Amino acid sequence: MMEKRVLMLHTGGTLGMSGRRPTPLKPDTYTHALLSHVPELRQLGHVEVRILCNLDSSNMTPARWMDVGTTLAEEHAKFDGFVVIHGTDTMAYTASACAFLLDGLRKPVIFTGSQRPLGETRSDARSNLVGAVELATKDIPEVGVFFDSQLFRGVRTVKSSVWEYDAFASPNCGPLAEVGVDLVIHDRVRRPSSPFKLAGGFESRVVCLELHPGFHPAILDSLVQNGVRGLVLRAYGSGNVPVVADLSLVPAIERAVKAGIAVVIVSQVQRGGVDLSLYESGAHARSAGAVDGGDLTTSAAVVKLMYALQGGGVEHVRALFGQDLRGEGGVPAGRVG
Ligand code: ASP
Repeated sequence: MMEKRVLMLHTGGTLGMSGRRPTPLKPDTYTHALLSHVPELRQLGHVEVRILCNLDSSNMTPARWMDVGTTLAEEHAKFDGFVVIHGTDTMAYTASACAFLLDGLRKPVIFTGSQRPLGETRSDARSNLVGAVELATKDIPEVGVFFDSQLFRGVRTVKSSVWEYDAFASPNCGPLAEVGVDLVIHDRVRRPSSPFKLAGGFESRVVCLELHPGFHPAILDSLVQNGVRGLVLRAYGSGNVPVVADLSLVPAIERAVKAGIAVVIVSQVQRGGVDLSLYESGAHARSAGAVDGGDLTTSAAVVKLMYALQGGGVEHVRALFGQDLRGEGGVPAGRVG
């Protein structure tokens, strides 16, 4: 059998950092020698390592997502699979961005990283890298996040632990694959239905705000003055917002939408999602023009909103949020309206 070809793109994160308390961890250069640190990767296929950038992932930007997505698209035909080494803090955002960019993906794109640097004796980096490279040689044409022993769909993933090795969860969608004694690939892996292409880009004038009791509606009006084009509002429960007296958000949502800001409502609660038809306080938000984000994670909603706004305004956003583009979920078809 032909040896599989895997491109490993390094973008940064703890995996390639050094430092020991009290010195803070920061990006180091030894990822250049990654293959000599984990020689067993060579047994899984021909692995080529490329350093795209070396950042703490809090410094990632939509422009950097484009660099990652463009590189993956340019190399799509030349490799059997891809591993992206990335910091855990914003991994769910970059993985979501790549999922939206890589329409009709034919190859696995596996994001991974670690909670402790590769250079430390008791690190999760080695097993995450080995699992990610093995998954990148399989027939999994999706952008996934592999950590500990599970591969999740990138657009469904949330960072769920700062300290534990199983740092990610996928609250509303089961794993795509599990790596244990056996490597099990689940049936929910999606298959491409269109030719492969690099699709779109990102409008970065988007903000995300979380409601709390006492949240003042004037904050939404200030977004209009500041040229914001999209808002992800993390509302209560199934998408509820205050609707009473001075602190009612409904008039402010209406003003924002009329001014051309797309307002998408997601839930502060991880499991389940938004249904703006369930309570009066959600229904009023919908009548004011808010878009129902369904069970989207916050990071998937932010990235999808940036992606949608690159192609049009409020009505285009509404139309795209009524579709499940990359398995990100959202509003079940029967409830769109
Ligand atoms: N601050 C790091 C980053 O996201 C955390 C990590 O990699 O786990 O780059």
